[in-house]
Amino acid sequence: MPATTGPMKEQKAMDTLQQFLRHTSIAYFSMEIALRPEMRTYSGGLGILAGDCARSSADLDLPLVFVTLVSHEGYLRQKIGSAGEQVDHPDPWRVEDWATQLDSMVAVDIEGRSVWVRPWLYIVSCPLGGRVPVLLLDTRLEQNRPEDRSITDRLYCGDAAYRLKQEIVLGVGGARILEGLGFEIRKFHLNEGHASLLTLHLLAKQTGSDVPLQGRLDKVGEACVFTTHTPVEAGHDRFSYGEVSRILGHGGLIDPDLLKQLGGRDELNMTLLALNLSRHVNGVAEVHAETTRLMFPGYQVGAVTNGVHVPTWAHPSFAELFQGILSSWAHQPERLTRCEQLPDEAIWNAHQRAKRGLVAAVAKATGQMLDEERPIIAFARRMTGYKRPHLIFTDLERLREINRRYPFQIVMGGKAHPQDQEGKALIAEIHRRIRELAPELPAAFVPNYDMELARLFVSGADVWLNTPMPPLEASGTSGMKAALNGVLNFSVLDGWWSEGWVEGVTGWAIGEGGRPAKEHASACLDKLERTVLPLFYENRPRWIWMMKQSISKIGSYFNSQRMMRRYGSEVYLS
Ligand SMILES: *Cc1c(COP(=O)(O)O)cnc(C)c1O
Repeated sequence: MPATTGPMKEQKAMDTLQQFLRHTSIAYFSMEIALRPEMRTYSGGLGILAGDCARSSADLDLPLVFVTLVSHEGYLRQKIGSAGEQVDHPDPWRVEDWATQLDSMVAVDIEGRSVWVRPWLYIVSCPLGGRVPVLLLDTRLEQNRPEDRSITDRLYCGDAAYRLKQEIVLGVGGARILEGLGFEIRKFHLNEGHASLLTLHLLAKQTGSDVPLQGRLDKVGEACVFTTHTPVEAGHDRFSYGEVSRILGHGGLIDPDLLKQLGGRDELNMTLLALNLSRHVNGVAEVHAETTRLMFPGYQVGAVTNGVHVPTWAHPSFAELFQGILSSWAHQPERLTRCEQLPDEAIWNAHQRAKRGLVAAVAKATGQMLDEERPIIAFARRMTGYKRPHLIFTDLERLREINRRYPFQIVMGGKAHPQDQEGKALIAEIHRRIRELAPELPAAFVPNYDMELARLFVSGADVWLNTPMPPLEASGTSGMKAALNGVLNFSVLDGWWSEGWVEGVTGWAIGEGGRPAKEHASACLDKLERTVLPLFYENRPRWIWMMKQSISKIGSYFNSQRMMRRYGSEVYLS
């Protein structure tokens, strides 16, 4: 284990923290963050994004501190039962193996009692020397009652009351911890609405001041930045005011009438609260910002399109290639445009090496043997209704027919949220389809899709399929990871792909020209049969040219270095 990633002694951790205190002025709050595969503090795209923000902040030496929950029991370890159904298990990990507990504690009020919160320190380091601290908030403390010790155990599981308690710990506890440790924070970045209660803490801190209410609201707004990720009404966190007053206390942090003005008349909507108390609001792709403006008329919503951390997501075989032609690729991925100069053979060999890694992982996990000479179409992400993971299986007879002319293979992966019955039904349906297609069309579902599997998938496939129901994919980031490994995107035009797509150059669109969503299944099979698969078999030089176009045009722009530079110059500094 490299010394920089292991836990430190407590005293050393406090000393290390002193170095950060001096120059840190921005705090990034996220319910989940993917720091490394062994730390189960994330569930999917939102956490990966937060992790990539942290990695790029370290690369660029930005003055950020990250705040999240420790999630001792993780999110979900997915197993697949004999009927192809998802079986949910907790996914525990040992925080003491990776982080150091800090000698500092604060209390938050929950159900009228004090709940103590203590942070763990983890440090994200960049090979060039930049570092940023991450605070993992923990209530598993002997000072707390047994039921309060479990507040920071499970990510996104449990009922509304449990979630609200977690959000108090994250938003209010997180802000108090920062103050307790001596951080002087100028900007608070709310990654999604889970930390919105932080705004109430900032507002409450000013009571007693003789500034009129509007002035105090403006002051909080100046300090807060809100990034929304959810273009679907039902996806926003809401709590009944009955629950809020029971758990947050009567009056809560602010006057109940004021809370209703800021957070919604009938229930507390965390997105609305964050919108009302953040001067800067942004969506995560251009089309997503547009959707958000329609959902919340009257608010100014900008766009900072997401990006991925190139050195984290480039397969070692591609990292080697990039290193050979430009030594600063990891730090300045905008220079990946030079990849167009790489010899075809080098690109293809690097790809085949990555592909063998995926083929081996699929064989190990499922017993399904894939052929590395045939194209692999991959679909892997959260399994839920709007992502339509079953779309490719709409017409099995046609799929078989295409496969007889141009043999291909399918690999899939993804977890359904434990309470998402539709997502779980989709996983079972996918397993039935895979069995119906065997042995003619080899297909596999790899259980427990996580950061580690994602790295194999996004580098080892040939085609990265994405078929969401527009406009519900806020951004999507897995296609960006695929692109920088020369894996070609084949996707419905939504989220980031509306910006990254150049037909026949960086990949292919499904259902372009405003074709209705119900025609996407046939549009997908049409293009697969007429364009994508024939190109793979009949014009390999053109395919490899597209791989290079994908790396150079997408990798150079849809990366988290560019994203954090934009947050820095256009958001934090403004
Ligand atoms: C990148 C990533 C995601 C996000 O996938 P989308 O296709 O953007 O939804 C989800 N889960 C894991 C493990 C990832 O690495």
